[in-house]
Amino acid sequence: MNTRPRRGLWPSFVDVALVALVLLVGLAGSLGAYRSLSLKAAAQEREQLSAMGQSVVDAFDRQLMRVVEALQAAGQMLSAEPGLTHEQFLRYGAGLIDDASAMTLLEWQPVVPHEQLAEFERQAAREQPGYRVVEPAPGGPDGGFVTVQVRELHVPVHYSWPESEAAVGVDMAFDPRRMHSKLIARDTGVPIASEVFAVIRRGQPGGARSGFAVSAPVYRVPRPVGAEARRRELRGFLAGVVELSALMSEAALRADANGLDVFVFDQEEAHRLIYASRAGEPFRAGERDMALSVDVGGRPWQLVLRPRPGAFGAAGDRMPLLVLAAGSLATLLVAVAVARSLVVRRRLERTEAVLAEDRQHLSNVIDGTAAGTWDWHLDSDRLVINERWAQMLGFSRTELEPVSGKTWERLCHEGDLAGAREALKRHFGGQEERYAAEFRMRHAAGHWVWVQSSGRVFERDASGRPLRLAGTHLDISRRKADEQRVQDDARALEAANRQLRDLAILDALTGAFNRRHFDDVCLAALTGARCGQAVGLCMLDIDHFKAYNDRYGHQAGDAVLRAMVQTLKHGLKRSTDALFRLGGEEFGVIFSAPSAIAAQQFVGRLSAAVHALALPHEDNPQRIVTASFGLAWWAAPTPLLTPETMYAAADEALYEAKRTGRDRIVVRCFSAGEGERAPEIAAPAGPQA
Ligand code: GH3
Ligand code: MG
Ligand code: MG
Repeated sequence: MNTRPRRGLWPSFVDVALVALVLLVGLAGSLGAYRSLSLKAAAQEREQLSAMGQSVVDAFDRQLMRVVEALQAAGQMLSAEPGLTHEQFLRYGAGLIDDASAMTLLEWQPVVPHEQLAEFERQAAREQPGYRVVEPAPGGPDGGFVTVQVRELHVPVHYSWPESEAAVGVDMAFDPRRMHSKLIARDTGVPIASEVFAVIRRGQPGGARSGFAVSAPVYRVPRPVGAEARRRELRGFLAGVVELSALMSEAALRADANGLDVFVFDQEEAHRLIYASRAGEPFRAGERDMALSVDVGGRPWQLVLRPRPGAFGAAGDRMPLLVLAAGSLATLLVAVAVARSLVVRRRLERTEAVLAEDRQHLSNVIDGTAAGTWDWHLDSDRLVINERWAQMLGFSRTELEPVSGKTWERLCHEGDLAGAREALKRHFGGQEERYAAEFRMRHAAGHWVWVQSSGRVFERDASGRPLRLAGTHLDISRRKADEQRVQDDARALEAANRQLRDLAILDALTGAFNRRHFDDVCLAALTGARCGQAVGLCMLDIDHFKAYNDRYGHQAGDAVLRAMVQTLKHGLKRSTDALFRLGGEEFGVIFSAPSAIAAQQFVGRLSAAVHALALPHEDNPQRIVTASFGLAWWAAPTPLLTPETMYAAADEALYEAKRTGRDRIVVRCFSAGEGERAPEIAAPAGPQA
């Protein structure tokens, strides 16, 4: 029956909670580290991006500023002069374009009221033969040029530098949007950028590049004050055409070197994408984008810088993820380790509980059996015993310390030591599976305590030599006493039985077998005799015993009877020979003799022994006690021979001995079968027989 608790096989709630807590804290920590690293990386990236962006914007700004400043300076200078000749313009143009490399084209665009247009064309044609004011054909700038429409004011391109790329003669007033920026420039007195458009080049329709114009107002007087004065005094515009690719060249180079893509938007035109360093792809806002606002000749532009994948180093990008993965893995490993250690702890606790239970069980058993325990270290002879071992002998354990094999030998009864040593030897040698011995040990009070010792070798060395033997001592004194009592009782019973049996078969006066036992012994003798052995029965009767009693008294008569029995018993030879008191002073002897002669000699020796007793008997003619003998002997008895037949034959011979004078032996020998009579031998009793 196993009622051990199954507690501990399943992890407890606390264990599960602990592992869950480890997982939770670890994962939360990893996630936190991931987040903070991500944020830090993002902040670093933004910082880096911001620095790069600033450098890109600086490059862009520098280019732009040169254009704006150059145009402003030129515009102001022209405002101070009365007129502008082709030659003057070319001189300015070369200088300005040298100063501002982003500016690819410089134009002088005078304001010409429509009524002066013809005069203007005529004068211009003098300098530039074939000069005409035109505008792009309706339907697009690619469709060629047509004669200019009637407008209040025309703003035709008069001079251009470089001349080869000029859109000379094109009236910029054809496009209200371009005019819009010029009118703002006129009113504010500072250069203003137009929206981005396809740069017009006469003679080169199609494939136009994107760009914008920065128009600086030129007045008839230097620095007019107020919008009204500026409108009145406006002479025209000095327009620098800036191609986006040229303006952005340095910025784009810097961006590219930093792993950035650049996008430029015109905010005034509903966030129109006007430039992309990586052409072709439609722009989609990205979360790593960095937007910077710049003022381009009075127009708000937005520069968007976008790091290309891996722009800030792959390790930096992956670091937070790596930390998250490593943290999660470490958490998992720690959780597994914690779970494992908890499982191991549970298992240990369970094992300890089982061990404690086993120890308790063992202790209960030892307590219950009141056994002394011993553990014998054979090499050192040290004997480790429990308190009970010592108590059994009336000692405390400390009183016996140091305990060794010698302690046991000293206390053991000398007569029992050899047996115990022999039992040890048999167990050590492997003849006995267990060591078991019973011996007496001396109690402190002086008496002997019977001890049953049993044990077993539980440790041997490599060669099989026993190293440790352990077992128990039980006090079996009571059992031994009980055994002794039972033994004594059995002996007494046996004696009583023997007495009873003797009473049943022995004659009380003489100790010879009685008449009742005669038939049994006779039958037993016959059983042996039927196997071919000869058998004899001798009967004898004391002569004139009545007279003896009369003369010497009955007690003396009894003494004679006892003396006769002693003498006759002494004469018996074999263990199977038996003497009976058949009645009064009459006895019988059943005996075996190999021949008739031997039988006669045996009876003769009995008669001689009676004579040798020489008990005085004054009323017997021989003056001593004598007896008459009747012997019947069968050489080979048949199954028909019975105790009665034997008795009758011997009795008849005895009668014959009495009749023929007493103190003699009459023999009847039978060779085989009932009734066969051997020749009668009548001999006087005495030593001659
Ligand atoms: P015989 O020679 O013919 O045998 O003569 P007897 O006197 O011995 O024969 P009898 O049979 O007439 O007498 C037997 C006597 O034996 C009678 C009795 O006094 C005596 N006797 C019988 N039993 C005992 C006994 O137990 N004790 C004593 N003292 N005498 C006994
Ligand atoms: Mg007699
Ligand atoms: Mg008689």
